[in-house]
Amino acid sequence: MRKRGVCVTLSHGKGTEMDDCLFCKIARGDVPCHKLFEDADILAFLDLHPIRPGHTLIIPKEHHVWFEDMPPVLAAHVTHAAQRVARALKTLRKVERVAMFYTGIHVPHVHAHVVPMHHVHDVTSAAYLHDGPEGFSTPPQQASGDMEQIAANLRVLL
Ligand SMILES: [Zn+2]
Repeated sequence: MRKRGVCVTLSHGKGTEMDDCLFCKIARGDVPCHKLFEDADILAFLDLHPIRPGHTLIIPKEHHVWFEDMPPVLAAHVTHAAQRVARALKTLRKVERVAMFYTGIHVPHVHAHVVPMHHVHDVTSAAYLHDGPEGFSTPPQQASGDMEQIAANLRVLL
């Protein structure tokens, strides 16, 4: 469900199946995918628009919009599956590192990206690119007072 490239948050359906959700359809087998493996709770398949060949998505079969809303056991299961894919990608793609991340963009159903990194900036934030595409800049250090305030604000919420 997209609107001008921005995901529309679903306010219902957490932990269930959604009729109009692309990844629920893939999890049910209603839409084909290049499946790597699955079990009762998760499914791993190739991203149709890979950053690099082998770019894999791992989804819970239950519909959850946000990764932070998954039950911890399910989140750990997704991470464990990503570790399994990463080891295979290191062998197949002969890369030193594999990135794993959630962005919550495009399809509002939790999906972990697992990407073989052929270049240090394959999944880099623009914040690290101040020195250009081959450089790797560390963003400026934040003022200690600002950091303490942010930490204090977060501790209240945790
Ligand atoms: Zn879904």
